[in-house]
Amino acid sequence: MISFDNLFQLSASSLGVDKGDKEEVTLVSHAHTDHTPTRYKNNHLLCSNVTRKVIELRRKLKQTKRFSHSNIKSRDAGHILGSRMFFINNKLLYTGDFNPQGEYSGKARPVKCSTLIMECTYGRPRYVFPPKTEVLKELKEYVEENNKVVITGMDSSFGKVQELCSALDRFKIPFSINERILRMNKGLGLHFKHNDQDSKIRITDDYEPFDYSGYKKIRLTGWNLDGWWGSGGDKNFVFSSHSDYPSLVQFVKKCNPDTIYTHHGYAREFADDLRKMGFNAAPLSLLGTRRKKHQSSLFDFIHQKVF
Ligand SMILES: [Zn+2]
Ligand SMILES: [Zn+2]
Repeated sequence: MISFDNLFQLSASSLGVDKGDKEEVTLVSHAHTDHTPTRYKNNHLLCSNVTRKVIELRRKLKQTKRFSHSNIKSRDAGHILGSRMFFINNKLLYTGDFNPQGEYSGKARPVKCSTLIMECTYGRPRYVFPPKTEVLKELKEYVEENNKVVITGMDSSFGKVQELCSALDRFKIPFSINERILRMNKGLGLHFKHNDQDSKIRITDDYEPFDYSGYKKIRLTGWNLDGWWGSGGDKNFVFSSHSDYPSLVQFVKKCNPDTIYTHHGYAREFADDLRKMGFNAAPLSLLGTRRKKHQSSLFDFIHQKVF
């Protein structure tokens, strides 16, 4: 039996979030590889159908084990297709990567909670993203001006690439994609009308051997705000699936939790900022070291607690 501060109980020997490999139950927020378990022998997954399908396609698994619990509710995370946050016992909200400004795959909506565990990949004030609609408009113009373009700098076969396929589809711009993306789209039943493998507008990743000569290279990432990341691209757009700094702060204010634990990216710095704003915040990693014997801590909840 797992229990967390009398908030929540479930009959499993262990529970993990995202990269929980050995746990009997793993809550998987989305299908980016830094959030999915590496082993699937015994664990039951609670995740969206899209996330499950991506995992099964990638790992060539026939079927992963399922888990559901009436006290664990999934909510849109707005990050990539199938991304979810988990709201536990109407009190604890866990986010993997999330985005309240999401366009393509829903929006992460804040919810009043007592404890918030949140990612803060872009948790520094310098990360302020322009609206996606504006960036996509500029991208469209750039692609139309140049007839041989390769768009890269993205997660491999799943995530931002589908958002981009969908945007080019909307703009009625024919595009080609690499084999891995093609297989993934097919496996997920995603059909893009303007996907034309003869097109010289190519969506790819850094893993595909591709002859870039004669092509203009576009890189899409939030890290383009740091300049150095975008080196090598002819045109770099600030385009991310994550929350920017103002969205992170706004999300916290609207959830208005008693306690916040930050993880991913600038966890320590962002928790410092939140404390200056009057919130009770700490990086999630600190919990492991603060833990006292026999005390039911959040660290136990996230990793493992066996009664
Ligand atoms: Zn992600
Ligand atoms: Zn991530």
